[in-house]
Amino acid sequence: MSDERKRRTGIEGMDVLKEEILADAKRLTLDDSFSFRCHRQLACFNKCCADVNIVLTPYDILRLKRRLGLSSTELIAKHTVRPFSKDQTLPVVLLKLRDDLPGKPCAFVTAEGCGVYEDRPWPCRMYPVGEASARTEAEPDAPEFYFLMQEQPCDGFSETGTTWTIRQWKEDQGVAPYDAMGAEFKEITLHPHFRRGGSLNPQQMEMFFMATYDLDRFRAFVFESSFLSKYEVEPETVEKIRTDDEELLRFGLRWLHACLFSEPTVRLKAAVRAEYEERIARQRATKAEPGR
Ligand code: SF4
Ligand code: SF4
Repeated sequence: MSDERKRRTGIEGMDVLKEEILADAKRLTLDDSFSFRCHRQLACFNKCCADVNIVLTPYDILRLKRRLGLSSTELIAKHTVRPFSKDQTLPVVLLKLRDDLPGKPCAFVTAEGCGVYEDRPWPCRMYPVGEASARTEAEPDAPEFYFLMQEQPCDGFSETGTTWTIRQWKEDQGVAPYDAMGAEFKEITLHPHFRRGGSLNPQQMEMFFMATYDLDRFRAFVFESSFLSKYEVEPETVEKIRTDDEELLRFGLRWLHACLFSEPTVRLKAAVRAEYEERIARQRATKAEPGR
């Protein structure tokens, strides 16, 4: 199925779209089925790879940077945009489109289809299937569900001879490694802290962005700053994250749980912790002193 194309619209972080989906979309399970076939002979071929919001996950960035032989910092600068709104709780990273060309196509689309097919982002793999979370503070364990995106002319739905269950579709599209890394990422993005209305300050936002999306910068931060003299990191982890991007991303997520939510996932060394606690105690005592 290498010549087949899937249009995609990312949903993570797109609050309005998410509300519409939660309210209106028919919720599907892995065993529900749909008819769809995408191929070059369709009139719509490639049209969906233009003028579309594709929300990227850290693992999408990892796969694309490796594919293109770029550092994460270069890939982010060249191929992504980071829209910002004042209500935003986490960074949103979108695939940059070619604003300089008519119709704003994706930079990777070719006459034959996707030019990065084996490493195309998660939303591109999943289309026309979307996935959403209904987790709330009241229902923290609400299961995720699937839905079909049919918001623009897409002739693939008229190809009724080919039927898939959602499970078969995901297998066919090679989604498993993206889902595995995505599950760890969602433990942060869907953390109770945010469901309770919590947010991140600008410095925490930047830490989050570096430790998830900009992995090469995070690696330099770990190995070229005092990081390893401050944190207890298992020697085998240190060796792995020197070169292994997937391990570095997993470690970055552990570190964020510690930094953002004070969870015991990566600990400060005892002496550093004692110094830190002493400093906090001194600050509190100073504030409590009358007349100051
Ligand atoms: S069938 Fe749908 S996914 Fe395939 S090229 Fe056409 S619009 Fe895109
Ligand atoms: S990455 Fe590939 S599939 Fe996704 S929009 Fe670009 S060309 Fe299309």
